[in-house]
Amino acid sequence: MVRQSTAKSHRVGRATLVDDGAITTAYRAVVAVPCEQCGRVIAPGALFSRRTRRASIGAMGLTLMEPVCTTCRPLRLDDAGTGARP
Ligand SMILES: [Zn+2]
Repeated sequence: MVRQSTAKSHRVGRATLVDDGAITTAYRAVVAVPCEQCGRVIAPGALFSRRTRRASIGAMGLTLMEPVCTTCRPLRLDDAGTGARP
């Protein structure tokens, strides 16, 4: 069997944010993760994107990658390879 890893998501591929047309990376949740924007749970198997947030801890700068659901930031997959969508 596959040993359980700490990964909570799989990288799916490149996606475009519907809102502003920005290129982002789409992820698929492996376990339920909370959306950092609205607080709703992103269900396992659902797509989501991540936003970066700068946090400074003392003199150190840190870039956090926070999950954001597709309700907050709708996205369109660019290279998903599903092929079934119109
Ligand atoms: Zn959300």
